Amino acid sequence: MRQIRIGDITIDAVIEREGPWRRPQDFFPAYNEAVFRRHLPDMEPEFFDTASGKMFITYQTFVVRTPRHTILVDTCTGEDKGHPPPFDFPGKERWRNELFALGVSFEQIDYVFCTHLHIDHTGWNTTLRDGRWVPTFPNAKYIFHKREYAVWEAEYAKGAEPPGKVFRDNCLPIVEAGQALLVNDDYALDDTVTLTPTPGHSPCHCCVNIFSKGQHAVVAAI
Ligand SMILES: [Zn+2]
Repeated sequence: MRQIRIGDITIDAVIEREGPWRRPQDFFPAYNEAVFRRHLPDMEPEFFDTASGKMFITYQTFVVRTPRHTILVDTCTGEDKGHPPPFDFPGKERWRNELFALGVSFEQIDYVFCTHLHIDHTGWNTTLRDGRWVPTFPNAKYIFHKREYAVWEAEYAKGAEPPGKVFRDNCLPIVEAGQALLVNDDYALDDTVTLTPTPGHSPCHCCVNIFSKGQHAVVAAI
């Protein structure tokens, strides 16, 4: 992705995985061939690859650099998580290499916004070190929606898998390290980065607004 500029703010995408790699029959439990055929002309070629019969799905982090802060929005699936396919796959170093190629180190990250707490949006939150999951970004505050966090905490308490494992490995260590900010719908970091509640895909999914010099971008990641 080319860099997007919103006033004084830049936005870059760091890719973990992209390209056509999932069949809609495997992705949507209620897949219907007739409905698929009807919408196919709108999906080709940007979202569906007819040759392979697979959808384009991108796991990516948005790197938002404001005059004051370096921010990540969502953290893909991460490394060493032991997830079943398709969430574990070779080549995870691409994500790290693309971040570093922007000139951004783990230590420079000030905030990590998680639009929601699913497996493919929280992975790089933590890193396995000496058998323990620790925050990957040592100087960052992580923004989790308070009620989204509570829902997955309850699933974890019930022993539900896989959401319990995602909570335990990707979210709980951040709170235990004192690096989480559990926020409400109206959270605003400052006058440049705010949330809009967009529940549905997950209990308290949020979009991230970016404002600068009269321009406005919305990160709408699911
Ligand atoms: Zn999701």
